[in-house]
Amino acid sequence: ALAVSAAAYMLQEQEAHAAEMERTFIAIKPDGVQRGLIAEIVSRFERKGFKLVAIKIVVPSKGFAEKHYHDLKERPFFNGLCDFLSSGPVIAMVWEGEGVIKYGRKLIGATDPQKSEPGTIRGDLAVVVGRNIIHGSDGPETAKDEINLWFKPDELVTYTSNAEKWVYG
Ligand code: ADP
Repeated sequence: ALAVSAAAYMLQEQEAHAAEMERTFIAIKPDGVQRGLIAEIVSRFERKGFKLVAIKIVVPSKGFAEKHYHDLKERPFFNGLCDFLSSGPVIAMVWEGEGVIKYGRKLIGATDPQKSEPGTIRGDLAVVVGRNIIHGSDGPETAKDEINLWFKPDELVTYTSNAEKWVYG
């Protein structure tokens, strides 16, 4: 009976964490790629315990960049920002995990690297807002929209990582 209830408990735990699983869109912008920071950035998400479910290298067109940043089209820096995003290779990724949308933003740091805490990606690796090396979705709705914009459904890989039971217990 003990073994049965332990198994049932473990199943409940697994279901509980499966229900909280989220996905977020993360991109290393052309400055991060050119500066050789791909491995450094991937490593921070990976070591945390988040799971990589999609990754590719692409040079977005200007029109694609405008779609990605459509929320900012009234801002004075919109045109320069879209020129920049489409100026070279970008690493587009989807990361999965409990709380990955919000915590991903914490790993990234504030929009302006001057205001990002040391220990964050922008705090440690960038200096100015126009070259802040990384993008991360800012909420569940934008995460869904950005994943759909950058990836086809079959580019997302669903798999069980052996580390999961050690990350989540
Ligand atoms: P975040 O990328 O942190 O979500 P925003 O969505 O506000 O920030 O802005 C998108 C991107 O636009 C920023 O990452 C940055 O590259 C650029 N940006 C934001 N504010 C400025 C600014 N004042 N001048 C130049 N570029 C900016």
